[in-house]
Amino acid sequence: MTADVQKLLDKVRIVLIRTTETGNIGSAARAMKTMGLSQLVLVDPKEFPSAKATARASGADDLLANARVVDSLPQALEGCDLVMGTSARLRDLPWPLLDPREAAEKVLQYAHQPGDIAVVFGSERSGMSNEELDHCHFQVHIPANERYSSLNLAASVQVIAYELRMTLLSADGLDIEQDEEELAGRDAMERFYEHLFQVMQGVGYYRPEQPKLLRRRMKRLFNRPMMTHAEVQIMRGFLSMIEKYLPRS
Ligand code: SAH
Repeated sequence: MTADVQKLLDKVRIVLIRTTETGNIGSAARAMKTMGLSQLVLVDPKEFPSAKATARASGADDLLANARVVDSLPQALEGCDLVMGTSARLRDLPWPLLDPREAAEKVLQYAHQPGDIAVVFGSERSGMSNEELDHCHFQVHIPANERYSSLNLAASVQVIAYELRMTLLSADGLDIEQDEEELAGRDAMERFYEHLFQVMQGVGYYRPEQPKLLRRRMKRLFNRPMMTHAEVQIMRGFLSMIEKYLPRS
C-alpha cells in the first residue's frame, strides 16, 4: 500500500450525528481503524467520552482520543469538498443515490481536490433528517434486505469503510492523476447559496416564510454538476450585477 492510499483515507471524515448509544461510538472507531480511517467527528453525542465507548473501541482508543466533538453538522463539515449522507430510508424527493461501492468511486474522483470528504451517519433512533441530508451531495444507501434494511450504526460504518478501502487498494498504483479544474468546496457553495437566496428574495421570487422546498431544490440543482471554483465566481459576479438594480433593503 502506498502513502497515497493512506493519505486519501486520512482525508475521509466519519461524522456521527447525535449518537445515543455510546458503545456504538467505540465500535465505529474500531471499524474505522481496521480499515485505515482516522478522522472521527461527533455531532452533539449523548455521552462522550465514556468507559463503554473505550471498551468497545478495543485498541482503537487513539481514534476516540483524537475525535472532534462539535455542536452542529455544518461545523463538522467545514473544509469538506464532498459530503455524503448515509440512510436506510429512501426519500420522497430523492437525493442522488449511491451504493457504498459507487460512494468509494466518488472518493477516488476527489483524490486531488484540496478539501476533506465527509461520510455522515444518523442517530440510532431517527437516522438522518431531510434537513441534515440538505448538507449532502449524495445519499449513500446500503442495499440491504428491503424488509429489514436498517443496519446497526457501527455495522454500517464498517460496510462503508470496507468498500472504501477495497476501492482505494485496487486503484493503488494506477494513475488517478486528474488535471481537472478545482471544484468549489462546500464552504464556497454555502456562500454562493446565501447570495443566491438573497437575490431571489430581493427580486421577489423567494419568500423565506414559504416552505423550504425551493431552497432544497435549488441546492440540489447546483450540487448536481459539482461546480468548479471558476463557475461559482461567474455566478457570484452575475448575482452581484443583479443586486445593483435592486432597491437597498
Ligand atoms: N431508525 C433509523 C435507522 C438508524 S440506523 C431510521 O429510520 O433511519 C443508524 C444509522 O446507520 C443511519 O442513520 C445510517 O447512517 C446508517 N444506516 C443503517 N442502515 C443503513 C443502510 N441500509 N444504508 C445506509 N446507511 C444505513
